[in-house]
Amino acid sequence: MDNPLLLIIIIPVSLILGLVFVGDISKTVYTCPKCGKRFRAKWYKYLLSGHYGKGKVLKCPKCKTRQLCVVSYDQKL
Ligand SMILES: [Zn+2]
Repeated sequence: MDNPLLLIIIIPVSLILGLVFVGDISKTVYTCPKCGKRFRAKWYKYLLSGHYGKGKVLKCPKCKTRQLCVVSYDQKL
């Protein structure tokens, strides 16, 4: 990149977008289909787990089983 001004703009913008993205993930509530436990997934688990439509394969903190957990849009635990 020849223009240093472009870097000065791109770096803060990408940092802000990254923070918004991570903040959004940490607010997402998932429901375990087996025991009904509602929980939030850590952002790194979110990134590591597979995504299937409206759910994600996550490990339930209550029954410790890895399964497809559906996103709950009301965001309440
Ligand atoms: Zn469970």
